[in-house]
Amino acid sequence: MDAYREKRGRWQEAIVRYLSSIYPGLSEAVVASSFNSALSVRQYLNAPDGAVYGFAPTPPPTIWSNPFRSPRTAVSGLYLASAYAGFGGYTGVVQSAGVCADMILRET
Ligand SMILES: Cc1cc2nc3c(=O)[nH]c(=O)nc-3n(C[C@H](O)[C@H](O)[C@H](O)COP(=O)(O)OP(=O)(O)OC[C@H]3O[C@@H](n4cnc5c(N)ncnc54)[C@H](O)[C@@H]3O)c2cc1C
Repeated sequence: MDAYREKRGRWQEAIVRYLSSIYPGLSEAVVASSFNSALSVRQYLNAPDGAVYGFAPTPPPTIWSNPFRSPRTAVSGLYLASAYAGFGGYTGVVQSAGVCADMILRET
C-alpha cells in the first residue's frame, strides 16, 4: 500500500504540474484534490476488480440476442433495476428500469 500511495501521489503531482504549465497559477489554486484508481472503486463501491461499471459491458454476440442480465430475481415479485441488470453506465440503468417496468406491468 505504501508503494501504491507513493506512486499515486507522484501521478497526482505530475498531472497538476502539467496542467499548471498550460494554466499558470492552477497549482496554487488547488485547495483539495483526490486521485481515484481501480483500487478506490473497489474499496468504495466494492466493484469486482475495481471496474467502474462493475463488470465488462461487452456487446451481445448478435444484435438479435437479448442481454443476458435481467432485473428479474429468484424471488417472485422482487425486481432489481440496476446497471447490473442490464448494460453498464447510466444508459444501462435507465434501460434496465424500462425493462423492469415492462416486466412488472406484464406480470402483475
Ligand atoms: C468514478 C465513476 C465514474 C463514472 N462515470 C460514468 C459516466 O460518465 N457515464 C456513465 O454512464 N456511467 C458512469 N459510471 C458508472 C455509473 O455510475 C454506474 O453504472 C451507475 O451508477 C450504476 O447505477 P446502479 O443504480 O446500478 O448502482 P449504484 O449507482 O451503485 O446504486 C447502488 C445503490 O445501492 C446502495 N447500496 C449498496 N448496498 C446496499 C445495501 N446493502 N443496502 C442499501 N443500499 C445499498 C448504494 O449505496 C447505492 O446508492 C461511473 C462510475 C464511476 C465509479
